[in-house]
Amino acid sequence: MSLPQFKFLMPTSLSEACALLEEHQGKIKIKAGGTDMIVRLSHRAVKPDFLMALKKIPGLNEISYSPEAGLTIGALALLREVELNPLVLEQAPMLARAAHATATVQIRNMGTVMGNVCNASPSADNIPSLVAMNAIIVASSGTKEREIPIDEFFLGPGRSALQANEIAVAIKVPKLAANSGVSYQKISARSKVDIAAVNIGALITLNEEGKCKSVRISMGAVGPTPLRAALAEKFLLDKKITDETLAEAGRLAAEDASPISDVRASREYRKLMVEVMTTRALKEAAGFAGGQ
Ligand SMILES: Cc1cc2nc3c(=O)[nH]c(=O)nc-3n(C[C@H](O)[C@H](O)[C@H](O)COP(=O)(O)OP(=O)(O)OC[C@H]3O[C@@H](n4cnc5c(N)ncnc54)[C@H](O)[C@@H]3O)c2cc1C
Repeated sequence: MSLPQFKFLMPTSLSEACALLEEHQGKIKIKAGGTDMIVRLSHRAVKPDFLMALKKIPGLNEISYSPEAGLTIGALALLREVELNPLVLEQAPMLARAAHATATVQIRNMGTVMGNVCNASPSADNIPSLVAMNAIIVASSGTKEREIPIDEFFLGPGRSALQANEIAVAIKVPKLAANSGVSYQKISARSKVDIAAVNIGALITLNEEGKCKSVRISMGAVGPTPLRAALAEKFLLDKKITDETLAEAGRLAAEDASPISDVRASREYRKLMVEVMTTRALKEAAGFAGGQ
C-alpha cells in the first residue's frame, strides 16, 4: 500500500492543532486512529499536503460521567476502550454494543468512536445509538468551543457541520431519563466484521402507565445521512407498547427510509429490514425501559 506524499504534523496542544488547520485550510486532513483516513489516502480519494495526527494532544482520550453532564467520550477514546469502559457499560451499554459491532478487534484498538462519527458515513456503526440518545458533538477552534446537536451534525456522506478550523473534541451523551431504554441493531451481509446494510438506534421512555412518553429512532445506511424515523416516532407517542403498535412503527419507519441498491443490499431488502429491525429495536428498548 503506497501513500501520496504529505507532511506529517503532530501538534501537542489543541490551540496549536487548530492554528494549523487555519493556516493550511483546504490542504490539511485530520487523523485520529487513521483506519478510515489511511484507506482514503491509499486510494487517492484525498491528497492533502499535510496530515495532522491528534495523538499527542493531552486529555482527548478521557471518558467521564457525572449526573449533570452525563457521559463524555473524548475524541481519542478508542472503539475498544468505549466497548470495555465500565462507565459506558453502566450508563450507556448500547454505545458499548455499537463499538463492539464495529470492525475487528485490531481495528477497534486503533480507531476511535469520534473518527467513526466525523467520517460521516451513513452506515457507521456508532452513529444510530448516539443519535437515538440525542448526543452532542463538542467542537473546538482552539479559542472557542461550541456544542453541535448530533441531529445537525451530518450534512451528507462524508460531510459534517465542523468548520475548517474546528476539531471535534468530545461526545456528550445526556443521562437517560427514568424508565428509558436504548437498543442498537445491525444487519450486514456477513454476520460479523462487515459494514451495516441497515442499522437502527432507538431510545424509548415510558410513562407510569407504560405508554410511550418519548421516542427517538435513527436509521443508518438508508439515506445520505443517518435519518430519523419521524412518522414512527409521531405514531408511537402516547401509545401503549404492544406487538401491534411496534409492528406499525416498523412499517412507518420503512416509509421514511430512502435507501439505494448497492453491493451490500438492494433498496427493497433495506426497506424490509428497516421495518423488521425498527420493530426489534423498539421492542428491546421498551423492554429495558420497563425494567426487563
Ligand atoms: C478493515 C476495516 C473494517 C471496518 N469496519 C467497520 C465497521 O464494521 N463499521 C464501521 O462503522 N466502520 C468500520 N470501519 C471504518 C473505521 O474503522 C471506523 O470508522 C473508525 O471508527 C474510524 O476511526 P479513526 O479514529 O480510525 O478515524 P480516522 O480514520 O482517523 O478519521 C476518520 C475521519 O474523521 C475525521 N476525524 C477523526 N477524528 C476527528 C476529530 N477529532 N475532529 C475532526 N475530524 C476528525 C478524519 O479527518 C477523517 O475524515 C472499518 C475500517 C476498516 C479499515
